[in-house]
Amino acid sequence: MGSEFSVDQKRYLEGFATGVTAARAARGSLPAGGAAPPSGPDAIHLAAQDRVTAAGKKLNDQEKWKREQHPFEAYVRLKQQARDNAAPKPPDNFRWRYYGLFYVAPAQTSYMCRLRIPNGILSSWQMAGLADLADILAGGYAHVTTRANLQMREIAPKDAVKLLQGIESLGLWARGSGADNIRNVTGSATAGIDPQELIDTRPYARDWHFHILNERALFGLPRKFNVAFDGGGLIPTLEDTNDIAFQAVQIADGHGVAPGVYFRLALGGITGHRDFARDTGVIVAAEEATEVADAIVRVFIEHGDRTDRNKARLKYVLDAFGFDKYLELVEDKLGRKLIRVPAEAAAPRPAQDRTAHLGVHRQQQAGLNWIGVRLATGHLTSAQMRGLAEIARSFGDGDLRLTVWQNLLISGVPDARVADASAAIETLGLAITASPLRAGLVACTGASGCRFAAAHTKETAEAIAQHCEPRVALDSPINIHLTGCHNSCAQHFISDIGLIGAKVAISDEDSVEGFHIHVGGGFGSEAAIGTEVLRDVKQDDAPRVIEHMLQTYLAHRTSPAESFL
Ligand code: SF4
Repeated sequence: MGSEFSVDQKRYLEGFATGVTAARAARGSLPAGGAAPPSGPDAIHLAAQDRVTAAGKKLNDQEKWKREQHPFEAYVRLKQQARDNAAPKPPDNFRWRYYGLFYVAPAQTSYMCRLRIPNGILSSWQMAGLADLADILAGGYAHVTTRANLQMREIAPKDAVKLLQGIESLGLWARGSGADNIRNVTGSATAGIDPQELIDTRPYARDWHFHILNERALFGLPRKFNVAFDGGGLIPTLEDTNDIAFQAVQIADGHGVAPGVYFRLALGGITGHRDFARDTGVIVAAEEATEVADAIVRVFIEHGDRTDRNKARLKYVLDAFGFDKYLELVEDKLGRKLIRVPAEAAAPRPAQDRTAHLGVHRQQQAGLNWIGVRLATGHLTSAQMRGLAEIARSFGDGDLRLTVWQNLLISGVPDARVADASAAIETLGLAITASPLRAGLVACTGASGCRFAAAHTKETAEAIAQHCEPRVALDSPINIHLTGCHNSCAQHFISDIGLIGAKVAISDEDSVEGFHIHVGGGFGSEAAIGTEVLRDVKQDDAPRVIEHMLQTYLAHRTSPAESFL
């Protein structure tokens, strides 16, 4: 397999590889990034913020920084900092997250860049292009995130703008993937190829993605905001952990609406605050999802808390208002009533398979398959990115589908080519199968790259797998999620075993990295928030403690289907 990407596909490299960017910079003075008064859509935000001030509460720092200068009016300064290879001060570090750039010192004295990949699907040439960018401008690797997205790390300040230009030249974006914005849009990983799906989520996830990017009023929310579309496929999307969850359901005749498939609307998911999205009783025609999501977000913009960031998510507005009042406000924005149906109008949703993100599975298209590739808690070297891109192009339909389980699928592989594709995947040091333990192993960035982390999550996850795999004979899927701090990027509350980073005191003055441990979480039809059972487990002890918990579970369960708690 040689790399056969065309010159056209590699044109994105020209901006930096030929030194054009540097030459432009050397020509000198670009205009200073002044703080122009907001107008148009930004006025909406300031109106909301002014009300908060009028209420006598103190705006949080991030709101002040937004008011001082809108991040999208400071691009000139971002470029100047790149020319100076300078680290940003806190206000700009916050602002640059609007562009998808996170300066992560002291964990690493460099930027992390988080992309946007709608529905988690990218083309082989885009993945190959990202591999090149990772080699030239970042650390030579990428991570698949729990929002079916990619992050690149170890980006020197001088390379940050070049990287953004490279990403956009590939037809991808990083804009709005950080700070108080609507994050990457997740959708069913097997959209359009899943034999049991009710809705192909791709067009709706993409429409919402482009709507966000092109509607400036939808940037600068009170806090971050997550939206997911689940089409009813085999692989869980974890949509009920999102602020807005669109869940495909079949609506029966006799409930005042035309029978058929709709999205059921659930709101307010934020599992780090121990809440799943709750069913509103509203159903939405798929083609109206963007319009409804837009109205929901605009109500949040007007009423979200801009003083206390711990209470600034949608959940807290819903808790204060109740669904009825919130949905009335949404209807005011829409200028029409939403459709409400009783819970019994919806048929039970198709069952999910906790292992369908790995291995070979038949598609709805006769003779074609998707192959789920296992990654070590999302880690991909640039060589693996390039190799997988080539496999997708040569053996599949050219798409790579990231999942919320920190792995990816190669789709559209004909029956006759499955064996060759699988062998090619293995030559990259990857596998298409995994033990029940590794199949459900999820970890956030942790202390190796995130300044909020109290522990090394990915490294501990690997240590747990290496220790437990030869000692514990699991015969059913077990999810173990490791998250470095209360932000819960790895969603420790919804896993069978969830570890959250903690500093563990070893003397009056010293502490070591460690974890508190929860058990009994779940998602989808088994949604549950885990219960803390152990505190202050030292990181080095975690593998043996998890082994003991798994052995105890195996010894006392009544069947493999029994939940962990
Ligand atoms: Fe960083 Fe905390 Fe998120 Fe982990 S959970 S990546 S430590 S912010």
